[in-house]
Formats: sequence, C-alpha cells, structure tokens
Amino acid sequence: MSLLALTVPISRGEVAFSLVSRLAYRNRVPISEFLVEMGIPLPRLLIGEERALARLADISGTSLEDLCRSTPREIRAGNWSFLGESFTAEAFRSTCVRGCRACLRDDMNNGFGEGIIRGIWMLDLVRICPQHGTRLEPLWQIYDRFDRHDSAVRLQKLWKAELPGKTVEDLAESTKLDQ
Ligand SMILES: [Zn+2]
Repeated sequence: MSLLALTVPISRGEVAFSLVSRLAYRNRVPISEFLVEMGIPLPRLLIGEERALARLADISGTSLEDLCRSTPREIRAGNWSFLGESFTAEAFRSTCVRGCRACLRDDMNNGFGEGIIRGIWMLDLVRICPQHGTRLEPLWQIYDRFDRHDSAVRLQKLWKAELPGKTVEDLAESTKLDQ
C-alpha cells in the first residue's frame, strides 16, 4: 500500500528519479526533503540500488521489477546493467538530460502531468527516440544532482518558458488539437 497522500499514474520505461520527482512535486515537497523523509539517498537511487528501488516501489505502488528494468543499475563498481546489456559508467555519464519532445507531449495528453523521463534516454549512445524516430534533444544541463534529477520541476519550467501564460493542461489541450 502506498504511504503517500498523493500518488501519480505509473508509466513503464520511466527511470526511477523521474518517478521520485513526480511524487515529490505532486506532494508539494522539494525533492531533497522528499528523499530524506522517504529514506532514499539520491546517490543510491541514481545507481539503481535494489534497496532504494524497493523502497520507491513500496511508496509508489510500482512493481520493483518494472523499476529495475527501466533504471540503469550499477551491479559492481564501474559495471552497469540496463535492458539486459552490460555497460561501463561512461555510457551514462552526462550532466545533460536529453529527451524526445513528442514523447513528453504524449505524456501530457495521457495524464502524466509534466512528462516522464525514460531510462533509455540516459544511455549516451541512444540518439533517436525509439517511439518517434526523432533525434533526442538536450532538455537541460545542470551540475547540481538534486536539481538535475528533479525532472518534474525542470519540465514544468521548460514548458512555461516555451509558452508563457499556459498551464500544463492548456498545453495538453493544444497538442490534442494539433493532431
Ligand atoms: Zn519520442
């Protein structure tokens, strides 16, 4: 059972930090405070440690299996695993979060609020959105780890900067009309 007052719809393929950020945002708590309250250290979450992911599964009602599948995980020091393949840390090492705007707009139309960061976007060698065939683009580059991974807040700012005066709901409506 979820421990949270407000949960969010779960999406397959969502990387763990994106789910944490959406939960914190919906519960109106800064992500850093949220992680402390929930007993999930950010560095553990970012390496996909099982205990951190299990805790997140517990509080969100997500399956641990899905979280493990959609989050790059450090299995041993310097040795990462994602989607059944092995990688070195360099494969994910970037302060830039990239994404597909078409996917993010789909998210808004499908009730996923500001949007969802997919685990597959974290992999440096992936340049094209598997869904839309369009180039992944840099969404933001931030050195602070908390700010960088607070994707719900970042995406909210990104949409506001692009279309001032519009709410996320307006944006979802306008993309519906475009189709
Ligand atoms: Zn896409």
